[in-house]
Amino acid sequence: TIQQLSDLDVLEVLGQGNSGTVYRIIHKVTSDFYALKIIRSDCDPIIRRQSLREIEILRCTRSPYIVQCDGVFEKACGDIAIALELMDAGSLDYLLKTNGSFTEKLLSKIAGQVLKGLNYLHVQKIVHRDIKPANILVNKKMEVKIADFGCSRIMCRMLDTCDTFIGTRAYMSPERYDPSAYGGNYNGYAGDVWSLGLTIAELFLGYYPLLPPGENPDWITLMCAICSGEPLSLPETSTSPEFRDFIGCCLHKDFSKRWTVSQLLSHPFVSQDLSL
Ligand code: ADP
Repeated sequence: TIQQLSDLDVLEVLGQGNSGTVYRIIHKVTSDFYALKIIRSDCDPIIRRQSLREIEILRCTRSPYIVQCDGVFEKACGDIAIALELMDAGSLDYLLKTNGSFTEKLLSKIAGQVLKGLNYLHVQKIVHRDIKPANILVNKKMEVKIADFGCSRIMCRMLDTCDTFIGTRAYMSPERYDPSAYGGNYNGYAGDVWSLGLTIAELFLGYYPLLPPGENPDWITLMCAICSGEPLSLPETSTSPEFRDFIGCCLHKDFSKRWTVSQLLSHPFVSQDLSL
């Protein structure tokens, strides 16, 4: 881990998030590269609260499928700096934009790794709540890891009814839009599975799956598509039955029928190696 900020040299900007700027840095002592996320002291108080929550969660997670935190520092000016494991191939969102859509075989490997990350979180009673292509990062070793815990929550009670409206709306599950239609009786874990199914379908199709390509909807249109639109079906000609079934298991509108992460880990789409 990194002992002090003065051991680091900033090299370049990697990305701009809601909470701050992320830089590629070098640790002068070891010559190792890291990512450094800087949250400015004058940022919005909601963003600051989310960042503190992210730090709290990153500090207690250690998994090969979750981006690792290697140090947190507070500068004299009040800025917060979070040193993270460098994911040098970028986000799945970036890779989709630059390389085009993913093959089914690659998606089965990606889904398997994200499921292992989600399983780690869910066992620890952490719900991510913002799974989407931009929050899944890849490194040059083709390791896939979950990042950005600003919207996550640690479930103190098994049933958490007082859900707040945060997270990215396009990837939010039907029960988060309309808890009363589901008896208000959901716990958030199934929402991560929905978001994963939508993410994998989008990476295959190349566009957000619940709306016609290129559409920039208002949130009512989005809510209607998510809650009452036709169930998503992938084209039969270009996909295997296992892949279509996996997406179906993730995207049951009724969350009580949706598969859990531990069930999905043994789904043939991820458990059988398609390269054989
Ligand atoms: P925010 O939570 O403020 O939205 P993110 O954590 O999503 O910020 O980071 C913003 C961008 O910075 C990401 O989309 C990604 O391009 C880049 N980034 C974030 N973390 C890393 C990392 N560990 N390695 C490489 N790039 C990263």
